[in-house]
Amino acid sequence: MSPHVAMVQRDHVRLEWRQSCPEPVLKRARSVLWTCLCRATVYELYEGGGRAFIRRTVQLDRKHEIHETSICSIREARAIWTKLLSGTAR
Ligand SMILES: [Zn+2]
Repeated sequence: MSPHVAMVQRDHVRLEWRQSCPEPVLKRARSVLWTCLCRATVYELYEGGGRAFIRRTVQLDRKHEIHETSICSIREARAIWTKLLSGTAR
């Protein structure tokens, strides 16, 4: 079962989302966690080579808008992931 993100909290941490690069940022990065596809916005946690980032995909009618956080440690990315799900970061 993939989780849904909780409603965003008023005083949430604002993550910096960048346009996704065509070149893979992390070699052999793979999606290890993701949120439910029933929502228009899907988040995925990517990990590879001891580093990680989070990808946000907004599923629009004609195309998908993809943004990513900068690369950080797996530990840091997992902490952000937890905050994302709980609505304390977005
Ligand atoms: Zn769902």
